[in-house]
Amino acid sequence: MIERTTLSDPTDLDGLRRRLAADTDAAGHRRPIGLGSVRIRSNALAGLADDVAAVRRDGRVVVLVDETPMRRSGADLKTAVAAMLSARFPTELAVIRAHGPELHADPDALGQADAAIAGAGCVVSVGSGTITDVAKDASMRAGGIPLVVVQTAVSVNAFSDDMAVLLRDGVKRTVPSRWPDALVIDLEILAAAPAEMNRAGFGELCSMFTAPADWYLADAADQGGDYDAGVVALFRDGAEGLLSGAAKVRAADPEMLLELAARMTLTGIAMSVAGRTAPLSGTEHLLSHLLDMAAGIAGRPLALHGAQVGVASVLAATVWQDTLERLDPVRLTLDAAYPDPALVEARVRAAFDPLDPSGRMADECWRDVARKLDRWRAGRAGVAMMVGDWDAHRRALAALVAAPATLSAALHAAGAAAQVGELDPPADPDVVRWALRALPLMRDRFTVADLRFFAGDWDDRTVDDLIDRSGILESRS
Ligand SMILES: [Zn+2]
Repeated sequence: MIERTTLSDPTDLDGLRRRLAADTDAAGHRRPIGLGSVRIRSNALAGLADDVAAVRRDGRVVVLVDETPMRRSGADLKTAVAAMLSARFPTELAVIRAHGPELHADPDALGQADAAIAGAGCVVSVGSGTITDVAKDASMRAGGIPLVVVQTAVSVNAFSDDMAVLLRDGVKRTVPSRWPDALVIDLEILAAAPAEMNRAGFGELCSMFTAPADWYLADAADQGGDYDAGVVALFRDGAEGLLSGAAKVRAADPEMLLELAARMTLTGIAMSVAGRTAPLSGTEHLLSHLLDMAAGIAGRPLALHGAQVGVASVLAATVWQDTLERLDPVRLTLDAAYPDPALVEARVRAAFDPLDPSGRMADECWRDVARKLDRWRAGRAGVAMMVGDWDAHRRALAALVAAPATLSAALHAAGAAAQVGELDPPADPDVVRWALRALPLMRDRFTVADLRFFAGDWDDRTVDDLIDRSGILESRS
């Protein structure tokens, strides 16, 4: 049982459903929690066969894994899971093999999974985010074969949501997928995971101190937000304790692993209930995505997603803090805040053509940005209303954002990357400057960077100054 005063209990799904149902304001926007069961505890693995028995149809059990070796209590985890299940059910172990340096949820991996699970009565995925997404997508397309997910690190929120990140034509996209029927989080497995995976998970969770503000802003400015405070409360209530207790992440303290896993589970549930990634994906995720795009084009390996998101959260919090201190909202009501699309398109091309001279990347970004610009121009009356009530909005936004120094100190205490030089591989400072400049020019999601862009306050000097003040480029002595 998880302490209720500081944290919603993600293992009590009916309790979460009641809590969401009691808050009737936003109920119309919400989707039901489709997770069947969640167990987070010491030795949770011992109950796995019962979890499978509860959801399995006729047919063999397929344990779906990648090639990464994992151990628990000195034994190979994946063969141990298969052996444990084969005592009760016909069971097969299926290894999905990468055709490059790392496994992606691409058509090749999905094809292997399709063949492995055909006719199965239950799929049990054992691994981290990618193999979980492969299992979700393949079991959904196979007509909804029951799925039990065994989470092996607190690295990403793929385990408890109904979305999947798939790689198609070289581009990663979050697409609708399915909920697991059961999620099993065994604290001994988490404790045996590489420390950098759980620390990256801490970085990923730092997005909860920046992204909800972007979501609120999009709604306040009438830019397609549908902000839902009840959904944010699911994962944010009491979350300051996560920051103050960050040193326990470095120490792999079992209670902290439990809290990390519980909060990560709540973030996945929250995004799925909201039907969008916006609750946990704002400025910091767009920054991380731009760094991935630059690395992809240059053929450089990517840093762990959560590690990169943690560093990006410090920068996003800096942009937020600066904006709440000094934005003159009246500038958003001037004609200059509603630029000619041709001028914005020119800026999109100037940002992305150096990366991809074929123009394809700029074309894709401009399609999204053109939509955002149309919405912005059509929503001018809504923006004027937000500006009229800016003091109240500013207070609400300030309550959603953590101070950059607080995030930076917490990441450092957790042993996670707090600066670009601490990422593996380190990010190039020039690429970070490019990414923040290009931030309003990539997607249709409205963030604080768009507010600054339209206010005419997003020139290179402003951006460089924000990066310098965030401290993410300094090397720690
Ligand atoms: Zn993320």
